Amino acid sequence: MSLVLTGIGVTSGIAIGQVHRLTPGELSLPEYHLDADAVDAELERIRRALDRSQRFLGKLLERMVDSGDTARELLESHRLILRDPLLVDATCDRIRSEKINAEWALVKQTEQLVAEFKRIDNDYIALRREDLEQAVNLVQRELADQPSTLIGAQVPHQLGRTIVVAPELGPADMAVLNQRRVAGLVTEHGGPLSHSAILARSLEIPMIVGLHHALDVLEEGEAVILDGHYGALLAAHDESLLRHYEDKREVSLRRRADLRRYLGRPSRTLDGTNFRLFGNAELPEEFQRCRDAGVAGIGLMRTEYLFMGDQVPDEETQYRAYRAAVEVMDGRPLTVRTLDAGGDKLPPALAVTQGPNPALGLRGLRLSLAVSDLFRQQLRAILRASVFGPIQILLPMITSIEEVRQARHLIESCRQSLIGEDLAIDPNLPVGGMIETPAAALTVEQLARELDFLSIGTNDLSQYVLAIDRQDELVSYLYDPTHRSILGLIAGIVASGRDQKLPVTVCGELAGDERAARLLLGLGVTDFSMPPASLPAVKKSLIEADAGRCRKLVEAFLREDGDEQSGQSLLEALNRPAE
Ligand code: PEP
Ligand code: MG
Repeated sequence: MSLVLTGIGVTSGIAIGQVHRLTPGELSLPEYHLDADAVDAELERIRRALDRSQRFLGKLLERMVDSGDTARELLESHRLILRDPLLVDATCDRIRSEKINAEWALVKQTEQLVAEFKRIDNDYIALRREDLEQAVNLVQRELADQPSTLIGAQVPHQLGRTIVVAPELGPADMAVLNQRRVAGLVTEHGGPLSHSAILARSLEIPMIVGLHHALDVLEEGEAVILDGHYGALLAAHDESLLRHYEDKREVSLRRRADLRRYLGRPSRTLDGTNFRLFGNAELPEEFQRCRDAGVAGIGLMRTEYLFMGDQVPDEETQYRAYRAAVEVMDGRPLTVRTLDAGGDKLPPALAVTQGPNPALGLRGLRLSLAVSDLFRQQLRAILRASVFGPIQILLPMITSIEEVRQARHLIESCRQSLIGEDLAIDPNLPVGGMIETPAAALTVEQLARELDFLSIGTNDLSQYVLAIDRQDELVSYLYDPTHRSILGLIAGIVASGRDQKLPVTVCGELAGDERAARLLLGLGVTDFSMPPASLPAVKKSLIEADAGRCRKLVEAFLREDGDEQSGQSLLEALNRPAE
């Protein structure tokens, strides 16, 4: 290979080893018509293939005791897909009515389902499409007599010094590779949000995805270095390069172990300012991870994922999800954000509400107030769960005080009706608001009088203040949450919260960025909410920060009399060790 190949790094680790090419043979998927008397045998054939696929997944699950919840959940979801009538019954119907063979019927039915998914441009749905295709691939392999157990036979038993290169990898493949302690992974296709990427992050395996034509240029046994941080695969010809990376790998392994140690330390800066770290979580295993990391509570439970199925979840389903989450948190507060559908996250069941400009349309709290039956259902579910632990309600996408009043009115009316049903709901359950639109940020003093806490959504605040669609790659170079305009607004929000004695949390991506932690600290933020994986590095950065120095630097920047001219150079200065 040439000296370096680049793709997208999905985990920041380093792996050093020899290439093992995993090239599953082309699947033979013939298409032919059946005679009427061959239909029953064909139905039997696909049933057997489905059974064998289920057994294969079942065996993998049994062996995966130490592979983490994410991997297990993915395999469980594949098992469910292979039982789903939309796939199984509909494929059998095609064999019967169209008199075509099993492979052909399965391909046709899968294509139909994928076409339905494709109409919805959404990351969550893209993952479900990937799940469907991977589950179907297991059945196709069985039908073609090239069963999935082959991957086990295709890779050596000990992969500690091996970097596996494949066109793409499914969760079942990942499970086998993880068991054999693979050093690193490279796939030709897939993005950073693909399931194999999510799994690699969760299993902490260094991985690069989207490295096109990797199999054309890499030879079996070739010595390579995988740098997940830069998404680079380097030829390991050079002794000094190899030594450099071996040292780097050692440092990175030590750093990871080192960072975890900070989780047990008091949340206090060098100069004695106390801060609190909260978690952002939506999937069950994320709540567990947040709790294990010792968070002060959940600062943001996004509820959109509950609505991502074909049907809107009923009150009971939602109640069970909120109750499970608050029970895991074991007495620490859970902040449930009401449905923030719209914009980039529109559940299929609510797709009818899509307007000409979704980011500025009927989304967030506006949508909930417009379909108040749905909103009531969610509020009732949250209130019922609040009997099992401390819960607070967070309202997304506020732009006016009237919206807050309407929402509070509905919350009170749901509370009264539940009391009428003999449920003891906390009368003081806090209701907070996301400050993530320019209107909310500029009228925060007035809003704060009607709210019990504030939560700054820097993702949307940046999008709306900078007039930059957060989804649009073409303008992503301008998406800068450290822009002076945004920092000024955050300072104002924090000041309003302080004046009115309300807690203020930052729950956008900025809060989970270890470099930005000191910037927020300098703006007066002391409550940070972030995904569990970011907790150790942010905590270290804050523990080692001098809050007084951070405040001085940030205030000078906002007054325009400091040395730093841009948010980015301010970041540099804040993270430079003090002389
Ligand atoms: C935000 O906008 O910063 C936020 C936390 O919410 P979301 O990313 O879900 O829009
Ligand atoms: Mg938002």
